Amino acid sequence: MKIIFATQNPNKVLEIQNQVGDLHTIQSLLELNYLDELEETQETLEGNALQKARFVFQKFGKACFADDTGLEVEALNGEPGVHSARYGGSEKSFEKNMNLVLSKLNDIANRKAHFRTAIAFIDQNGKEHLFEGICKGEILKVKIGDGGFGYDPIFRPEGFQETFAQLSIGLKNQISHRGVAISNLIEFLKA
Ligand code: IMP
Repeated sequence: MKIIFATQNPNKVLEIQNQVGDLHTIQSLLELNYLDELEETQETLEGNALQKARFVFQKFGKACFADDTGLEVEALNGEPGVHSARYGGSEKSFEKNMNLVLSKLNDIANRKAHFRTAIAFIDQNGKEHLFEGICKGEILKVKIGDGGFGYDPIFRPEGFQETFAQLSIGLKNQISHRGVAISNLIEFLKA
């Protein structure tokens, strides 16, 4: 079956196509020549994922899914959360986002945090299904490593000595929030 992934990020599509294997063909919005940015105006990750999936389902009428991810820091009451992409300002700067988290946690001992991904899948009949993936860890005091993206240099996943920015992409994908959420979606698609 062909399934549309409501993203314009080819890396995300490759990542999930690798996990899905031959079972389904994942099509990105780029392949469908849809280049406009999708609206994400909801106050929860699930709300944003559903908003994007519903838009794509209405436009193309085919099975599709969308994701939304946030970093949720315990001592910051779950911030940056749904605002992760633009936490440090409107221009989506990874550096500014990380600096703001580090400065807000400056004197705070509780460094617990997790990434959370919500995936909304809409099947051919228009039925909606939600999936989740969480990766627990902690926020360091300084940035370490130059791989990955986003908050990776300040996030150390539980059970590891390295930050996400120091792990190989393959290992990160196995343990990451997105990897877990995608596995949950794939289990559902196989069933
Ligand atoms: P998106 O929903 O995948 O676009 O993610 C929203 C924002 O969360 C991104 O702009 C990043 O700042 C952050 N983010 C998402 N996934 C990751 C990750 O795997 N590592 C670090 N930051 C991430």
